[in-house]
Amino acid sequence: MRPLSPEFRAYAWAPSTEELARRAGLDPSQIVRFDGNVPPLPLPSSRPATVARALAHVNEYPHGGYPELIAAIAAYAGVEPENVVLGNGADDLILLVTRAFAGDGDTVAIANDPTYPLYRVAAGLAGATIGDDDPVLTFCCRPNNPTGALDPLPAARPLAVDEAYLEFSEDDGVAGLIEDGVIAIRTFSKAFALAGARVGYALAGADVAAELNTRQAPLAVATPSAALALAALAAPPDVRPTIEERERLAEELRALGFAPLPSRTNFLYVPVDDPDEVAARLLARGCVPRVYEDAIRITVRDREDDDLLLAALAGADAPAGRSVRHLRATAETALRVRLRLDGESRVRVATGAGLYDHFLEQLAFNAGLDLELEGAGDAETGPHHTAEDSAIALGEALDRALGARSGIARYGDAVVPMDDALARAAVDLGGRRASVIELEHDPGLAKHVLQSLADSGRLCIHVESTGEDPHHVAEAAFKATGRALRAALKQDGSLVPSTKGIL
Ligand code: PMP
Repeated sequence: MRPLSPEFRAYAWAPSTEELARRAGLDPSQIVRFDGNVPPLPLPSSRPATVARALAHVNEYPHGGYPELIAAIAAYAGVEPENVVLGNGADDLILLVTRAFAGDGDTVAIANDPTYPLYRVAAGLAGATIGDDDPVLTFCCRPNNPTGALDPLPAARPLAVDEAYLEFSEDDGVAGLIEDGVIAIRTFSKAFALAGARVGYALAGADVAAELNTRQAPLAVATPSAALALAALAAPPDVRPTIEERERLAEELRALGFAPLPSRTNFLYVPVDDPDEVAARLLARGCVPRVYEDAIRITVRDREDDDLLLAALAGADAPAGRSVRHLRATAETALRVRLRLDGESRVRVATGAGLYDHFLEQLAFNAGLDLELEGAGDAETGPHHTAEDSAIALGEALDRALGARSGIARYGDAVVPMDDALARAAVDLGGRRASVIELEHDPGLAKHVLQSLADSGRLCIHVESTGEDPHHVAEAAFKATGRALRAALKQDGSLVPSTKGIL
């Protein structure tokens, strides 16, 4: 084999979530990764139905490549299809561009320091060295990983600009400079939340793009991944909530005495004296930052997750109480639950199953839970799968959060009127599943949702609700069940409340 330079260092991946959990003595579901710079959830378009067609033909090659995806990328980026080069993630394009321009004895310049390590790896693989003396190619990461800065564009040409985080920067990027010796490298891994699918692209002048395509692997992108990217482009993400959350997180970090660098990305670079010590402290609480020599880098997730990290950084005690993170994914739905039993009724259910999201919110609110239940389902079939699986996911999370079910009140009951409707509910958290749900009217799936909750949560739920308006009848039933749950969940002693001595 052609030898690599003795200084060459391969790209080093972070440990797996399972490995980190083992080190921290936690369950893998409690590990929250702030080290990957990816969104906390896939986009709604990333679902089994999106790849169903690709799977039906997965025995075949995609003869002719992906003209539809290339056209969609060109439209999104404001260029022509002949300017687009597809790759297996931006990493693939960094390697391709480097080996296309640089070889043995050449010099490649890297504009930022610190920056993404793959430019150095790619140059080393091509036999080139890093330096500023008459480079055959210059790399610039804009906005820069790990600092988050949108530094001025170097004048050097040819110039490869890694725009992996462009969408978060509120900048137009360099697509307008591709006829001037500039190559833009972009990815679906970050704003489009498709890191596992491995799809990236380069934008270059038509001649350069043709040369790059000549040197690219014949089919660098898999058919399911191409389908996911195409679906994502049809409904691009709204990154504004992430940008707002980034600014909130930075503000909270400053309030704790840290000085995060200004960021135009979905992460923050936070200088600290002893990054290893800070990371160890965070890992003990399940939070995983990326460690640098004199800083940690934190991915902006969402308020709930970022607050976990802030509390751990502040050295605050872990929030008291029974809490779980739970994921339920089937061919029909993918749902994530973050649940705290001893909560403050901070509730958000967002699965797209409108009415049933609302009913589950009412139940959780009245139970005093903190609940984030989000995800998406096969809405084209109606709300059935999504509503049912939401209830199942919540039930599973409740079951896990209740653990051995000792020391709780176990029984609870409530009567809740709602205009014309009146609901009575009683619950038993003893662990045996049963549901007797009598609704005088049902707007559709209310009874089924409560039954699914009882079944997956190992709950016994009795509810009776009467009235004229089906929405009121159902809503009162969910509220009453929530109120009854609140009473049953109370921790009122350390004994197992059964005369049998066990549950
Ligand atoms: N460029 C930068 C600056 C990155 O941070 C990353 C991912 N960490 C990549 C490229 C790689 O992206 P992809 O997943 O598309 O290979």
